[in-house]
Amino acid sequence: AVPARTNFIRQIIAEDLATGRHARIATRFPPEPNGYLHIGHAKSIVLNFGLAEDFPGTCNLRFDDTNPHKENREFVDAIQQDVRWLGYDWGDRLYFASDYFEQLYGFAVELIEKGLAYVCDLTADQIREYRGTLTVPGRDSPSRDRPVAENLDLFRRMRAGEFPDGTRTLRARIDMASPNINLRDPVLYRIRHGVIHHQTGREWCLYPTYDYTHPLSDALEGITHSLCTLEFEDHRPLYDWCVANVSVPSRPRQIEFSRLNLEYTVMSKRRLTLLVDEGHVAGWDDPRLPTIAGLRRRGYTPAAIRTFCERIGVTRADNLVEMAMLESAIREDLDATAPRRMAVLRPVKVVIENYPADGSEMLTAPNHPKEASMGQRTVPFGRELYIDREDFAEDPPKGFKRLVPGGEVRLRQAYVIRCDQVIKDASGQVVELHASYDPATLGANPAGRKVKGVIQWVPAATAVPAEVRLYDRLFRVPEPGSGETDFRDDLNPASLVRVLDALVEPALADAQPGQGFQFEREGYFVVDQDSRAGRLCFNRTVGLRDSWGK
Ligand code: ATP
Ligand code: MG
Ligand code: MG
Repeated sequence: AVPARTNFIRQIIAEDLATGRHARIATRFPPEPNGYLHIGHAKSIVLNFGLAEDFPGTCNLRFDDTNPHKENREFVDAIQQDVRWLGYDWGDRLYFASDYFEQLYGFAVELIEKGLAYVCDLTADQIREYRGTLTVPGRDSPSRDRPVAENLDLFRRMRAGEFPDGTRTLRARIDMASPNINLRDPVLYRIRHGVIHHQTGREWCLYPTYDYTHPLSDALEGITHSLCTLEFEDHRPLYDWCVANVSVPSRPRQIEFSRLNLEYTVMSKRRLTLLVDEGHVAGWDDPRLPTIAGLRRRGYTPAAIRTFCERIGVTRADNLVEMAMLESAIREDLDATAPRRMAVLRPVKVVIENYPADGSEMLTAPNHPKEASMGQRTVPFGRELYIDREDFAEDPPKGFKRLVPGGEVRLRQAYVIRCDQVIKDASGQVVELHASYDPATLGANPAGRKVKGVIQWVPAATAVPAEVRLYDRLFRVPEPGSGETDFRDDLNPASLVRVLDALVEPALADAQPGQGFQFEREGYFVVDQDSRAGRLCFNRTVGLRDSWGK
């Protein structure tokens, strides 16, 4: 069956299956282990694994690990954890391009024997200079017509470690005058001594390039549709050249789609690495980053990320997606699933003077206003409690519906109270409110008068201290670094506000890292891994509505 959510790639695949070109499809997700995955990678993961779920087929997880000096085991592990967390399972289809180094070497020998590759003595700078430009054709390397036997000998000695870094490369022998610069005798192998590859150790000092490795790895794995981002469109002729000219078992097809660009953030691994290494953020899982690990710590769920990826769709048109789209996906998910709790971010004490000094009672409150199946919790009520400083105004602005001197407000899930007295310190700061409650207003409207405002509160005796981390956009501008300045100059200095002395209701005392809640009227929050018993720590995932910039 053709799945409901269609796109141009799904159409190509449906046709390939209908015409019998393929009986099953095979895709792959091919990260380079040189950083953590980000939301852009999620687009590719949802696409590739999603195709294998919806059509008869498979999806491989393949590490594209041909650049050993930037790659490491930590990244390999984190990537696997993140793909799994997103809900995808590659089963036993875990591959490393480095698994193919020996086969790739053999294919290179085959190209040399066919007169399609040669060992070049030019340096990297010279190669660039000889390559020409869009308007100037390239010039042949002096090594281009080297005899096959000499090429074979030199290539073997390159592998044996006889030549220093940068002195020789293996290049494809294609066309130095091609209008496509990628076909002007591209480098297939370079020499790299002294690096320890996370998979192959010190076995190799000769490393294949991405453009050579990728198509051949696809072909070796029997990939039918090799999906990549649009910047590789110009590389497709080289991709096809590689597959056509060596004895690989299959002929994969490369199809390009537009990469995800998201406002107010950066996604290139070079930039993310700088933010982490220079300490602009606390690590790859900083909740302000668009990394999967950061989004997870921020309180995003796999379901919300997948929904977002489905909604943005797959096209060939480059665009910049609004952050609001990502935020509405998580807000919808959490609105339906997050238990409601009360939290007071800026506490000010309220003493209810007509409540018995030694009295207390257990009130019950539903965990979700619409989902009775989510049950309820108890909230102890007593003579002393805390409300948010911002829910009281001595000199209220117009339309203020919360507590004012002499006015009434409903305490959420509890009684209506009236503010009778405002106690201030020497500097004029409000330190305490004295109030009275109306015992007849528990779950009932007060007789003969309307009380419009509802505010949160926590009981003074049993509230749990908490740190609350309020996050804003990491950058101040939609496209960081797009102007004259460095992207780091566009960082938002207020992207994290730490509220150190918040109080939350006692039902949260045992909340565990990763659990998400709605703090009524404040937003959605998740327990951070920095949480400790008696000192909780929450991250704000997203506000209740899209109020940013308003
Ligand atoms: P960078 O250029 O930042 O290093 P990359 O594309 O090289 O990123 P890879 O690890 O090679 O990162 O990417 C693995 C796969 O994810 C590739 O198929 C790539 O096309 C895809 N991908 C990476 N970034 C995005 C993005 N922003 N949108 C969609 N797909 C992406
Ligand atoms: Mg890269
Ligand atoms: Mg890449």
